[in-house]
Amino acid sequence: MTIRFDNTYARDLEGLYLPFQGAVSPDPALVWLNEGLADELGLSVPALRTPQGLAMLTGGAMPDGASPLAMAYAGHQFGGFSPQLGDGRAMLVGEVIDRHGQRRDIHLKGSGRTPFSRGGDGKAVLGPVLREVLIGEAMHALGIPTTRALAATTTGETVWRETPQQGAVLARVAASHLRVGTFQFFYARQETARLRRLADYAIARHDPDLSGTPDRYLAFLHRVIARQMALVARWMAVGFVHGVMNTDNMTISGETIDYGPCAFIDAHDPAAVYSSIDQQGRYAYGNQPLLARWNLARLAETLLPLIADDPQDALPAVQDAIAGAESLYAAERRARFSAKLGLDGAPDSLIDGFLDMLTAQGADFTNAFRALSPDDDAPLRTLIGADPRFEGWLADWRARGPVNARAVNPVYIPRNHVVDAALTAAQAGDLAPFQRLLAALQDPFTRRPGFEDLETPGTAHIVTYCGT
Ligand code: AMP
Ligand code: MG
Repeated sequence: MTIRFDNTYARDLEGLYLPFQGAVSPDPALVWLNEGLADELGLSVPALRTPQGLAMLTGGAMPDGASPLAMAYAGHQFGGFSPQLGDGRAMLVGEVIDRHGQRRDIHLKGSGRTPFSRGGDGKAVLGPVLREVLIGEAMHALGIPTTRALAATTTGETVWRETPQQGAVLARVAASHLRVGTFQFFYARQETARLRRLADYAIARHDPDLSGTPDRYLAFLHRVIARQMALVARWMAVGFVHGVMNTDNMTISGETIDYGPCAFIDAHDPAAVYSSIDQQGRYAYGNQPLLARWNLARLAETLLPLIADDPQDALPAVQDAIAGAESLYAAERRARFSAKLGLDGAPDSLIDGFLDMLTAQGADFTNAFRALSPDDDAPLRTLIGADPRFEGWLADWRARGPVNARAVNPVYIPRNHVVDAALTAAQAGDLAPFQRLLAALQDPFTRRPGFEDLETPGTAHIVTYCGT
């Protein structure tokens, strides 16, 4: 198998990785291949299906030109700092330039123990791997920047969690795997020269127009802030709860990464939490904008020594940048939710008025936005008509001349109970529900006859798990 790799991370970022070979799988088998994405990357679909292709997709043997490595990073996990994290069960295969000229990482998750594994087994299992496929593809189809699954492969190995599970590897693609925690790794070690090299690398990769400019580190901070605020506003607009927004799970590129304990809300609830380990609700749905800003402040800290020789001198500009994140978020949120209301620029009071009614009536977030229609009140009235504020809100909304917003209000999101049912079937060898759900999620704005079950809100509160 020939792949034209161009591995800048391995070449330019010494100190941020260890060379690594994945574990050889006893019996690799392809469960799902993203043929469209493979094609976008210039990879041959038939070649990926050969034993050599499967060996690459599981990490057991690399094609020529790959630079298999485990990345080092640090990170704040639930507010506590760990100076030494890293790919504990993941590896970078290499970088390719896609058909649009964009550099993309090919990365594996579940490819075996690495020097950064700590107590973990380095493995992944089929259910969570397919979950990441479903949710990543859904996010992509919803227009949200995201890492994407290239392939899901079983290894032929039994992996123990609470019960015996099928070992699996996810091959995923990202604009890069640079995280806030990557910067924290060198910052914590006070390795300023290497930190500068990393920042210049990130700028060349994600903001090349800033390369070599005198104020590039501050300008770069502004860019990352803008990307993250736009991203979180998009999450909020589809009811997505990431669940583990630690600084090692926040990308510099502005892509969503790590679909471990994430979930979508049913009823609108700012306090919604799904992750078993998020006991305090730190990463609750409504807290995400605030926690994203907290993470950006951690990134900003690492850039202080690059922005000025005396970090104190850099403080005012950096504090301004972080303070500005709040209004950037507010503008992005207004834009997203205005569009969902079919309006050009809705006032916050109209947006909040709608959301407050959803909360009070326990109405399904996704279905309520989809029910909005400039020419038929009935569907919305069924959901929230009982609210005493409804008629007043509706009159205000109508007076603003809304248009049909079905192009931005999805019919299908990966509802927790539907995803769980599809994964349970897949683990028992029946991939049909997974394939059916995936097809709907890949075209989420078009209602399909016979898919009504995918629109039904869940009744039980589900709990999600990290690192499974
Ligand atoms: P995550 O919450 O999936 O981003 O993982 C946080 C950290 O734990 C990362 O450094 C992972 O590589 C590591 N990790 C998660 N699961 C495992 C595992 N089964 N074996 C080794 N490391 C793991
Ligand atoms: Mg992670």
